[in-house]
Amino acid sequence: MTITATFVGHGSPMNTIETNKWTDSWHNLGETLGKPRAILAISAHWYIDATAVTSMERPKVIHDFYGFPQELSNFDYPAPGSPDLALRVAEIAKPEVVSLDDKSWGIDHGTWSVLAHMYPEADVPIVQLAIDARKPIEYHIDLGAKLAPLLDEDVLVLASGNVVHNLRQIQWKAEDQGFKWAWEFDVDVASTIQNHPEELRNLKAHDAYRLAVPTPDHFLPLAYIAGIAAAKGLKFEKVIEGCTLGSLSMTTYKLNK
Ligand code: ZN
Repeated sequence: MTITATFVGHGSPMNTIETNKWTDSWHNLGETLGKPRAILAISAHWYIDATAVTSMERPKVIHDFYGFPQELSNFDYPAPGSPDLALRVAEIAKPEVVSLDDKSWGIDHGTWSVLAHMYPEADVPIVQLAIDARKPIEYHIDLGAKLAPLLDEDVLVLASGNVVHNLRQIQWKAEDQGFKWAWEFDVDVASTIQNHPEELRNLKAHDAYRLAVPTPDHFLPLAYIAGIAAAKGLKFEKVIEGCTLGSLSMTTYKLNK
């Protein structure tokens, strides 16, 4: 069994309907990992004042963006939910409280832009986990460690964000290039998590942190995978690396047993 955990740099919502080197790597990642029983998705785009999981049988497809083509607003990813997995996550997270959300959220584009390429049939049940915006990175690393047993239950933990994510600095003509500071931060994050994943918490002291992580929402999904890696002694392997539009890193990882 090759099911483990992965952090995917998702970039623009347009990746949902485009084909490029990033989306090709996500397609290959799905084939490499195989099809799990269910997916626990940690998306940068559900960043609220609580830790919660979607617990409905049929999660809504949330189109949480503006100014993109109608084709993207019409995009559907009708995967089922998994109330059982939602309950399991709440159980293993104790004593931390994980709220069960059966109506407010659903599956957002952080999750489905990637899964559209990894599992285009939309036939794997999905539970999404909300990132508690009030908590420090240590909380998210520790909660990730608690989720590690899911890997032995044929559940794929998919975290979706971007190691470097600064929308104010975006250069629309930069295509697949990155600022020097973006590359430096991306490379230093890689060497940290590949050697001592729990030391991801120390990256706050990096010279480029303020530019690379102006808000923590896209960075924190990686903390969950770092927690799993530390708890299970798994190694981060790069699936693809690089920057786009100057100030986004698309670097994607999977954990190896
Ligand atoms: Zn995003």
